[in-house]
Formats: sequence, C-alpha cells, structure tokens
Amino acid sequence: MSSTTTVLRTLLLLALLATVACSPSGDASTAPSRSSSPSTASPSASAPPSASRSGSLVVMGRIVTMDDPAVAEALLIDDGTVAAVGTRDEVLAIAGDDVPVMDIGQNVAYPGFIDAHAHWIGDREYYGLDTAAEAIQAALERGWTSIAELWVNPERLTELETLAADETLPLRVDGYLTLNEPPPNGAHFGDWYADREPGAVGDRLRVRGLKIHLDTGFELGLLWDADELNATVVAANERGWQVAMHAFSIEPIDQALDALEPVLGPNGPNPLHHRIEHAMQVTDAQLSRTVAMQVALVIHLDTAATDWLSDPDGLAELGGETAWLSRYRDFVDAGLHAAGATDMPWILPDFKLTDDIGRPVDQIAGGMDPRGRVFPEPPPWMATQLLTAEQGLRAVTVDAAYALGDEARRGHLAPGTLGDVTILSGDVTAATPDEIRAMTVIATIVGGVPALCAHPDVCSQLVSED
Ligand SMILES: [Zn+2]
Repeated sequence: MSSTTTVLRTLLLLALLATVACSPSGDASTAPSRSSSPSTASPSASAPPSASRSGSLVVMGRIVTMDDPAVAEALLIDDGTVAAVGTRDEVLAIAGDDVPVMDIGQNVAYPGFIDAHAHWIGDREYYGLDTAAEAIQAALERGWTSIAELWVNPERLTELETLAADETLPLRVDGYLTLNEPPPNGAHFGDWYADREPGAVGDRLRVRGLKIHLDTGFELGLLWDADELNATVVAANERGWQVAMHAFSIEPIDQALDALEPVLGPNGPNPLHHRIEHAMQVTDAQLSRTVAMQVALVIHLDTAATDWLSDPDGLAELGGETAWLSRYRDFVDAGLHAAGATDMPWILPDFKLTDDIGRPVDQIAGGMDPRGRVFPEPPPWMATQLLTAEQGLRAVTVDAAYALGDEARRGHLAPGTLGDVTILSGDVTAATPDEIRAMTVIATIVGGVPALCAHPDVCSQLVSED
C-alpha cells in the first residue's frame, strides 16, 4: 500500500471521526450504504436469545476468575448469579443433581468480557448493519457479554429502552447519554438527562453515565467554555451521574481534569468513577493528577495507537510531539484503572467489519503487540508501552467493569457476581499475541444463559435428559 494511500485512508477516517461520528440524528442517509454482511457467523454459531432472563449452570474446566482463587476447576451460576467457585467436588456438591453441567474440555472460561466504550448499536449503519439485533449478535460472537454505548441521544435511548422492555437484550448494555454533538458542530443539548434517575432499566440495561465531547481528536478544537463545562460536571455529579469526557490530547485533558477537580478534590476519591475517553496524549503532570484524583481512563489497545498516530499529518496536528502518546504501560504502572475498549466501529479500516477485529482477544493481543491494520509497524514510542497478557486481560475485565462503575458485579468471578462468562479456545495468559488472535469464542454466557454458542458439543450437554 502506498504511503499516499495510507495517509488518505487515515485522513478519511479522521475526517469521519470529526464530522459524522455519533451522528446525533442517527440519520441512516448519512451513513455508508450496506457493503457486506459480517462474516463472523459460522453455520453453527447461533443460539437464539433465550427467553429465560437468568439461568443456572455449572461450568467445569479451566476457569480464570480474575479473583481469588485465580484459577478454579468449576463454577456454579444459580439463577443468574455466581454462587460458588472452587474445585469440581466442592462445586458439584453445592450444585446438587438438578443443575446442568457444561464441561468445557480444554477450552478456558473467563469473566464475561466488557467493551467499555463502543458504538456497536448506535453507529451500526456505518459498518453496514441494519438492526440492533445484528449488532448485538456481532458483539456476542466476538465474546462480549457487556457493551457500553457511548453516544446515546433521545432517539437511541428510546431504542435501548424498547429493547430492554421487550426483554430482547441477550447481553448487557450500559448507555451513556450525550450532552453535545461531536465536531464540527458541537451543539450542546442541555441537561436533558435531568428528568430521570441514573441506574438500571431492567436487568440488562443501565443508564447512569453522561458523554461529553471536549475536542475533535486531532483538530484540537475545544467545544466547551471552561466555566460551562465545570458547572455541567458539578450538576451531573450532584445528581449521581457518572461523566465520561472525550479528550484526546493535552489541552482537552487539562480541561477535563480542571472540571473534575472541584468535584473530586485534588486527591479524590472518585466514587462515581468519572472517566476520560481515549487519552491519546497525556503529560507526566496530567498523569499525576489523574492518579491522584483516581480518574478512570478508557483506551483502545487494538489499532488506535498505531493507525491513528502513525499518520504524519495526524501527528503534525498534535504539534509533532511524540513524548506523551498512547502511554498504556505508564497508565497501568501508575495504578490507574485503564479499560481496553474497541470504540467500534471507528477502528474499522474502511468501515468493513471482518471476523478478526473488534474482539476482546484483539484488545489483549494489541496491548502486547500494537501493530496497526492500516500501518502494520507500531510507532517507535510504543516499544516502552507494551502490556502483558495479564494486563490486557484486566483491561477488558476488572478495569472495564470499574469504568462502568460496576466492578462489584462484573469483571471477575466470585460468589455474588453476575453469571457472565466467556469461553475461549485457549489460555490468553500463556500465549503469544498471534496465538491469542487465533483463539475462537466457544460460548458467551450472560446471567447463566448461553447467549451465543459456537461449539454445539459444549452447549448440547446443557439439554436436560429428564
Ligand atoms: Zn467513541
């Protein structure tokens, strides 16, 4: 691919980010026409969303808990909630004879993976899907049990609430209500969220966060007057809403931290887990403030660091400064909760959804080996910012759950957590990045109910013989 072509493709992506990301009208006429259907579904990779909202199930095999014990032999989910984690004998004794057993063989179970920042449903037109159900199916096939929708306007909220009311959400959705348009317009919508209480809408949808666009990524334009932003953040915090601020670079990150400091104080705590999205360029001083205030960061371990920042024109718009870019390892080493999220569909080259992108395994492998998809070679500064597999795994489990403010119930497997489990064909903690990318999803279980089963032999055991 010529450099001219790659630059043009990147510029196209950035232009789209700046102009049509999160179209507030949700107007399909502005989206690309449907180009191809996603190729992720194998003939057997389907399981109709169960009418049952919660299930009971024993999962037997190698289970990575992200809790204590770190690895277990068996897991009991009782009526949607984890009831026991331990040895086979311990768990079977508690489960009794009536609970179906799923023996996963040589496959490996993990806490259900959480995509803490994406637009799977809301921006589905951009990647060629017509319905919310298709978008949800694409996420389930990739192994996500929770997806966060980071730009929900009134129209999109109605769609999500309808899905929740109809009990047609086979996975969990966290909706973030948007307070302004993306650039170039940036129009503010006011406090339209204020007539509702933050929290659960049924058992699969939560709406407790607000999305605020501060900048336009590489254009460095600020969309808020500082006083107005500060007042908005204070009001949201007082009403119990979590704030998620889109801030790519140094100037908007300063603005975000300045708006959070009156709420959190210079040294936290941060009980609502207010968060900064993207955080592509963060100085040492900003990192220190972020740590002190305990602000959560949401980053994109696959593709973004390389494809978004390898373009010389993109870097030029950041002033050519490369010292502070994509500091993923610095964030983790500083003790921050850094969630690894897809930002689907804005990571897709040419907005083509293929079966090798948008997956939890891409986040984990991308943290270890941040090759791009448009630019294969990672930029040199990434050499010091690589994560381990364990750190990548935390980014899509415990730290992603923290970013949703739901770390007590999600992101790990222990008595009392939600019965959300993703089963992969291998152990990501003992594999190379390419081996991780080659792993497949065996099943995606939400609340003890198999929402996606790509391996009939595993799931068929669940059929009761009685
Ligand atoms: Zn986004």
